[in-house]
Amino acid sequence: MTENQKPLTIYGKPIRGRSCGSCKLCCTLLPVELPRGQKPANVRCENVCSKGCSIYDHRPAPCQYWSCRWLFDEDTANLRRPDKSGYVIDCALDTIIVNGQPCEAIQVWVDPEREDAHQDPALRDYLNLLAERYRIPTIVRWSSSEGMGLIAPALSGQERWIEPESVMNSEKIQRARAESQMTFKAILEGDE
Ligand code: SF4
Ligand code: SF4
Repeated sequence: MTENQKPLTIYGKPIRGRSCGSCKLCCTLLPVELPRGQKPANVRCENVCSKGCSIYDHRPAPCQYWSCRWLFDEDTANLRRPDKSGYVIDCALDTIIVNGQPCEAIQVWVDPEREDAHQDPALRDYLNLLAERYRIPTIVRWSSSEGMGLIAPALSGQERWIEPESVMNSEKIQRARAESQMTFKAILEGDE
């Protein structure tokens, strides 16, 4: 299998030498559907314990089937563990609208207390690699309702990163989604 044929969606076992260790960042940053209801983004799960998850053997399905890309993708070799870097790269993709068409995007959940963590050069290199290989943009998320589109040089054809304003404020989410759509449309047409 060539590099370009590698699947974007990765499941299976963690790559050799990688483990969560004392990291529990995903159990705080990401929203997750628990049996008692949804745990919101940026709220530490009630089941987090010193060893990780206190109900690990019986954890809910979303937790069983999900892992971050740092754990599974060997191309993240230059990235630090999520609790040290301040962001979690989601294995699941999000869907955004580009030129009126649904388009998949990589999701990076950033710790709001380290809100600039997405500027990590190692992360940008990795996202540029994915953009080059899969023609895919990125959504940086600080919560379920606040985020920013991120267009890699490999995708835009420009030398710099494009960070369009795309505040997904919960009160204005419909309008913000429309603005996001317009922003991406403008960018992909080369008309910022
Ligand atoms: S963010 Fe990744 S490394 Fe950290 S606990 Fe979650 S799955 Fe493990
Ligand atoms: S149930 Fe366990 S694995 Fe799932 S979010 Fe909570 S602590 Fe993490």
